[in-house]
Amino acid sequence: MTNPVPHIADMAAYALADLTAPKGKRLISLSQNESVRPPSPAVAEAMRQATQTPHLYPDPDWTTLRTAIADLHQIDAADIICGNGSLDLIGGIARAYLCAGRAALVPEHAYPFFRTATQMTGARIDIAAETKATVDVDTLLAQTKPDTYLVFVANPGNPTGTRLPRSELLRLRDGLPNQAILVIDEAYGEFSDHLNEPMFDLVTRDDTIVLRTFSKAYGLAGLRVGWGLFPAQIGAQMRKLLNPNNVALPGQMAATAAVHDQAYMRETCDITIARRDAFATRLRQMGLSVPDSFTNFTLVRFPSAVLAAKADAMLRHEGVFVRPQTGAGLPDCLRVTTGAAEDIDVTADLLADWCHNNGVFS
Ligand SMILES: *Cc1c(COP(=O)(O)O)cnc(C)c1O
Repeated sequence: MTNPVPHIADMAAYALADLTAPKGKRLISLSQNESVRPPSPAVAEAMRQATQTPHLYPDPDWTTLRTAIADLHQIDAADIICGNGSLDLIGGIARAYLCAGRAALVPEHAYPFFRTATQMTGARIDIAAETKATVDVDTLLAQTKPDTYLVFVANPGNPTGTRLPRSELLRLRDGLPNQAILVIDEAYGEFSDHLNEPMFDLVTRDDTIVLRTFSKAYGLAGLRVGWGLFPAQIGAQMRKLLNPNNVALPGQMAATAAVHDQAYMRETCDITIARRDAFATRLRQMGLSVPDSFTNFTLVRFPSAVLAAKADAMLRHEGVFVRPQTGAGLPDCLRVTTGAAEDIDVTADLLADWCHNNGVFS
């Protein structure tokens, strides 16, 4: 057998959600931060139209989609690059700026794919401690080194759900060394747009990238469409290394239709936020600790890692799949996606009974 290159051989595969329901139980998946509901009805019509020309390649330049996004956010369409999900873009950024001898810096409870993308390039990953499951700008700045080329921050964060205000991101950017590119991953940005702290203007500094996705608030996870706003020099590198025609025709057409129905997406966010906050309130009443979330999920902290694992096993046994967070350095936490109302209620009921029956807070 031929050996792979050493840094790939040393890597662990990305940990996917385990979704095998016990026999006879309905599967309730609250583990992948998917939308509470299907996308705008306009999306189904766009996908029907896409079925007319499957023999033709899609637009490799995403022109219509880029124009729709640019109009919405009042940004320059020329600086937008679309990806096969934002993971495509995160991987591309890592390939363009990392290699053995360079490093990426991430917060302690960072989105795990930042590590995967870094390791694929043979670069080192450095980690900065967080404070109360929130990104800490001071520890990030203290960890920067002459070979730090990328700093990945998801804001709001996944799996924490917490968020840094714009002023803190500006302080981070100002304190980073010149060679370091700041990547602000706003996969959940639509759930905190109402706070009115857009970060797109930072891209004009030429050292910052802002990423978004259609997988969460827009409900298009199955179609794989993400996008980012890139400084021109960085965008030129990305265009060299992304697969041409990376976003299939149904994805481009669906995402364009979804952008045009803002009222629907905003309503999805409102439904999600109300349900998420009601769930958090119930859990806090039980005695569980829940940081304020700015996303479509809730991070639930148990009194110990052992109790978190037991609660996870109990939920699994009932067919409810949430996401354990040992891999993100939070072994005492479970992340629960805000799903259908009925599914979220079942989950809260199961946790309430479990806390009661096991004397967790008595
Ligand atoms: C879900 C998620 C993504 C990836 O989304 P795509 O489906 O690839 O667009 C990226 N970053 C964070 C923080 C996420 O939670």
